[in-house]
Amino acid sequence: MRFFPTTPVYRYVAAVSMAGLACFLGLLAASLAPGAPDLWPHAERATLLAFFIFLVLGELFPIEVPRDGGEKEAIATSTTFAFAILLVFGTPVAIVAQALASVAGDLWARIPWWKMLFNAAQLVLALAAAGAVLSYFGPQPLLVESASLVGQLPAVAAAGAVYFLINSVLAGASLALALETPMVAYLRQDFAFQALTAGMLLGLAPVVVVAANFNLALLPLLSLPLVGIYKGGRQAIMSEHQALHDGLTDLPNRMLFRDRVTQAIAAADRDGHAVAIMIMDLDRFKEINDTLGHHNGDLVLRQVGPRIQDLLRRSDTVARLGGDEFAVLLPSLHASSAGTPVAEKLLEVFQKPFPLQELTLNVEPSVGVAFFPEHGNDVDTLIQRADVAMYVAKKQHRGFEIYSSHQDQYSPGRLALVGELRRAIEEDELVLHYQPKADFRTGRVDSVEALVRWQHPKHGLMPPEEFIPVAEHTGLIRPLTLHILDQAMSQCSAWRALGLRLGIAVNLSVFNLLDLDLPSDVSGLLGTHGLSPSDLTLEITESVIMTDTARSLGALKALKEMGIGLSVDDFGTGHSALAYLKDLPVNELKIDKSFITNMSVDKSDAVIVRSTIDLGRNLGLTVVAEGVEADTVWNQLQALGCDLAQGFYLSRPIPAHAVERWIRVIYPSWRSSQATGSSPGSLAGTISAHDE
Ligand code: C2E
Ligand code: MG
Ligand code: MG
Repeated sequence: MRFFPTTPVYRYVAAVSMAGLACFLGLLAASLAPGAPDLWPHAERATLLAFFIFLVLGELFPIEVPRDGGEKEAIATSTTFAFAILLVFGTPVAIVAQALASVAGDLWARIPWWKMLFNAAQLVLALAAAGAVLSYFGPQPLLVESASLVGQLPAVAAAGAVYFLINSVLAGASLALALETPMVAYLRQDFAFQALTAGMLLGLAPVVVVAANFNLALLPLLSLPLVGIYKGGRQAIMSEHQALHDGLTDLPNRMLFRDRVTQAIAAADRDGHAVAIMIMDLDRFKEINDTLGHHNGDLVLRQVGPRIQDLLRRSDTVARLGGDEFAVLLPSLHASSAGTPVAEKLLEVFQKPFPLQELTLNVEPSVGVAFFPEHGNDVDTLIQRADVAMYVAKKQHRGFEIYSSHQDQYSPGRLALVGELRRAIEEDELVLHYQPKADFRTGRVDSVEALVRWQHPKHGLMPPEEFIPVAEHTGLIRPLTLHILDQAMSQCSAWRALGLRLGIAVNLSVFNLLDLDLPSDVSGLLGTHGLSPSDLTLEITESVIMTDTARSLGALKALKEMGIGLSVDDFGTGHSALAYLKDLPVNELKIDKSFITNMSVDKSDAVIVRSTIDLGRNLGLTVVAEGVEADTVWNQLQALGCDLAQGFYLSRPIPAHAVERWIRVIYPSWRSSQATGSSPGSLAGTISAHDE
């Protein structure tokens, strides 16, 4: 908590401190007037001293107890003894004793001076008010004799109630101001808890007085229950803390986060505020864990919380929901637009690399944001929508996304898809379409790329982007890839039986490369289908292949040694170091379609393509251009010396049964008409009309 002279909380603290000081000095002056009770009464000195010692002990060792919402609260058992002093010795003695004890406790806890002053002032004001109530019922101090106690209980109860009210309002208001939460809501929430404990401690005061009247030696015995409460409180805090916090990072866990969101929604609903929920997932964290080990993964996770906390207010919450998923709650925004800069700052804190034991690591998050009341009225909806937005942010490499209803196309699917996808693999709902790769020099088509689609019973033919990420995040990618490999190879040997010799290319995901069994699985499948390794090319996107991880490199080397073709897909999108490329065991580069499609009009794209072709050739790699859509681009690439072309200009990806006809009939006739100059530009329309 920082205080500046201008903030409301500073002004409040200053005002209470001044009032407390004035009250203290006023009462002290009055007590020195003739006829006032003795501040250091001779007859009762032993009792006063005993009460004072317990008062100080209570201030030094407050009892900590857990509160709803994972907070903990310190309860000073000194209340009992301060109130006992008030009853027996009157207000001036009580405020002096309480002020001394409070300052002693705060010095011991090394609390800043202004807080010390505020704490003492608040207690002095509460005691003075309680003293005023007591004197309303009769002359002060009430000489509480065991015999007359019953008759005086109403006065004691009224004084206790006033003491509690003043004390909790003064303290609660300062906390609400410091936490910047709505005051009334905070006080109300605080009230029930405080009333219970304060009632217990104040109720003990008359008992302490009676015991002291009987024999002072009983006092230590009376404090035994307090020791019990003290121990119990600590134990309860520990187990409550464990239940509500994550063991690794000590951040609030999902349960506590949900609880705080529920409270924030209730408060915001009353006060007309907005609430922001952010769900954050670290990109490619599984890779870090798999390749650098869990220990390093944990080191990253532990650093995330403090980094985020530094940019939030105290009343905001950072939680770890599990794995590499974190969540942030901003409980009171004046408008939802105030949440956007926070999301931006959240991304900024990740720009600094994370130091690990021997290296530093760049980690990027994807953040999804949802607001109350715009996007939902309950915890589940808000968390789910933030989750959907996060998923979209990750998919589109956008850093953060604010939920919008059109993103919903991803959500009903996302969870349901996992179950359905498993079934789809077993029931053969995944279909492969094939897209030819043509040789610029010979004009021949010797290979096709297999591209998966999901023939979904309800959603129709779904593109890979809609379910491959789901598979990647759920471990289904392994069975899915093996299924696709199996299907593609079986198709390849079926074509072979028809006299059609075609190589096939299959796409892999990074998770496949981390799978130690991949090389042996692939070679097993090749054997089953009677294919040789050179019939197969595996395509791995650049961003993935460039992640320098010993394990994926090992898999690549093993595959290469088996004689399988390896291709760097989407080349140019991964910002990779070119020097690294020469050491990779690959034999093909596929220039990403984003550079190819417009290269005939975009000069810088053309420059990039030209130098990539040169680079590939100098490294002895086959260079493939994907996304060739027009004859201008085809001609340009041919002139630049590109090896292979793939794209809508030749053919869209087409079902297996259409491939044979395309290769045997459509493509040759297109080529011959092209040679005679009578062909229209693109071939793609012809095929899809006939065969798709
Ligand atoms: P990719 O491997 O780069 O595949 C090329 C994508 O570009 C295909 O999209 C293809 O339909 C599209 N394309 C081809 N020619 C053109 C063109 O001329 N213009 C334009 N605009 N696009 C063209 P598709 O089939 O939707 O696949 C998208 C991505 O999904 C693939 O990109 C690949 O990364 C992934 N994918 C597809 N099948 C599989 C699979 O079996 N396993 C894995 N792990 N990923 C797959
Ligand atoms: Mg590909
Ligand atoms: Mg590609």
